[in-house]
Amino acid sequence: MIIFAAALAFGFFLLTNSLQAAEAKDAGHGAASHAGPTNPNSIDSALKALKEGNARFAAGQATYPRRDKEVLAKLAKEGQTPLAAILTCSDSRVKEDNIFDQGIGDIFVIKVVGAIPGVNEVGSLEYAVAHLGVPVVVVLAHTQCGAVTAAVTGAKEPGALGEALTNLNPVVKAVEGLEQSARLDAAIKLSASMFREKLQMVSPVIAKAVKEGRLKVVSGVFDLATGVVTFNE
Ligand SMILES: [Zn+2]
Repeated sequence: MIIFAAALAFGFFLLTNSLQAAEAKDAGHGAASHAGPTNPNSIDSALKALKEGNARFAAGQATYPRRDKEVLAKLAKEGQTPLAAILTCSDSRVKEDNIFDQGIGDIFVIKVVGAIPGVNEVGSLEYAVAHLGVPVVVVLAHTQCGAVTAAVTGAKEPGALGEALTNLNPVVKAVEGLEQSARLDAAIKLSASMFREKLQMVSPVIAKAVKEGRLKVVSGVFDLATGVVTFNE
C-alpha cells in the first residue's frame, strides 16, 4: 500500500513537472507566465481569420498555409499562440485546419463525439484559455452529425457511447415539438449553442476570461455539403 501510494505520488510529481515544462515551452515566456499568457491574436482578428479562411475554403480558394516542417520547428522553439480553440465532433469530414484554411499552431482542436463537453474537453479548453491565451473558443457542430441523429431518433447505443449521448437529452427534448424534417438540423444548431452556454456555466476559468473581455465563446455549424461554417455569436 505504501509502495503504491509512493508510486502514485511520484507519478503525480512527474506529471506536474512535465506539465510545468510544457507550459513554459508553450507560452515561450516561462519566467513571465504569472503575468498571464501573451497571445498576439485579438477576439476580432481571430474571428476575422476564421471567417475569411472558411470563405476561401468554401469558394475552393483555400491556400493551406503554414503546413511545412519549418513552421513546426519555429513553433517548437518559440511556443504556440493559437488564434482559437475549437471543440468539435470527431467526424472525419470535419477537418478544422482545412475548413478554416489555417496551419500548424493556428487552431487548438478538441474532437469528441457530438462536440459534447465532458470534464476532459472542458479541461483542454481551460488549458487553451488560461495557458495559451486563445481569444476565441468555437463550439462547432456539423450537418448530418451521427451523434445528434442517434440522439434525436432515440437510437439505443451500448456502452460508453450510449452514456455520452445522454448529454444530448436536453437538446432532444427542446426540438420534440418540431416537424420531423426540421428536427435534426434544429437539434444540431441547438446542441452547439447549448454547449457554448454550458462551457461558461461549468468552467469558472472560461467564465472569468469572458467577463474580463479576454475571450469570446461562439458556436457554429459546419455544412458538409457546402463547406460553409455559419457562426452564431
Ligand atoms: Zn458529428
